[in-house]
Amino acid sequence: MKIMSIYAHPADHFAESGGTLAIHAEKGDEVVLVTLTHGGRIHPNAYAEKNRVNEAAAKQVSREEIIKNKRIEMEKAAEIIGVSRLIHLDYDDNYIGVQSEIVHRIAKVIADERPDLLITDYPLNAAMPDPHTVASVMVLNALNQVSMYLKNLDGRGEFWVKQVFMTKLPVFPRDALSLHGIRNDLYIDVSDVIGKKLKAMDQFASQGYRGNYARKAIESVDGIFGKTGYVNFAEGFCRLYNETRSSLPVSRHMMENDVLTAHKRYSTINLRGTYPCED
Ligand SMILES: [Zn+2]
Repeated sequence: MKIMSIYAHPADHFAESGGTLAIHAEKGDEVVLVTLTHGGRIHPNAYAEKNRVNEAAAKQVSREEIIKNKRIEMEKAAEIIGVSRLIHLDYDDNYIGVQSEIVHRIAKVIADERPDLLITDYPLNAAMPDPHTVASVMVLNALNQVSMYLKNLDGRGEFWVKQVFMTKLPVFPRDALSLHGIRNDLYIDVSDVIGKKLKAMDQFASQGYRGNYARKAIESVDGIFGKTGYVNFAEGFCRLYNETRSSLPVSRHMMENDVLTAHKRYSTINLRGTYPCED
């Protein structure tokens, strides 16, 4: 199986779905990451402090240097997760709104790579200039383009991704009725690979992820997803398409779940003790 994640910025892949990607890499699936921007502007935490105390020193760090450093951080993180390949579209991360040129480029990448499954962010609020929402809207537009390719006109035939899993939806009901159905409808138990996810996030030192931030982010975000899914740590997804099956499904996790002992499962891993930041 081929899994492709498409995100706005280099670190998004790891923060949002790094554990799930690691599980698929361990299973032998091909994992391809497509990043829309070089991420040279987003989260310049390590440089911001310098900037504030000494403008002259900050100016010595060129934009190219920041971009190059982030690329190196991403390559290290990808190796930890077991990613097969990185595809960089290298747009500046100051894009405004949906742009057809970017949509067509994403469409071509999807058509060339032909992934079975796609991971991208949930488009939270189209009225806000949030780069993740804009990126996801462009990905959804690209999927539509790919489905309309015609061999005689475009040199390639139409293609459909089988399922899209959307991340970043910050709501936690356990059922389809609360909050009128807005929810993550799938949780992936990432407890066994949480060390890999943590180490991958530690690589993004330039944006302040390394160390305590990575641990706090996983404890809180993957923690609340895990609590909702009755496991220690989970990543939450909202599936784009309905699914057809030959009979009613129920997962092993649901069959074996014991709600009365879930509190123990939820609190098993001492994240900071078991996975301290190296060096
Ligand atoms: Zn981002």
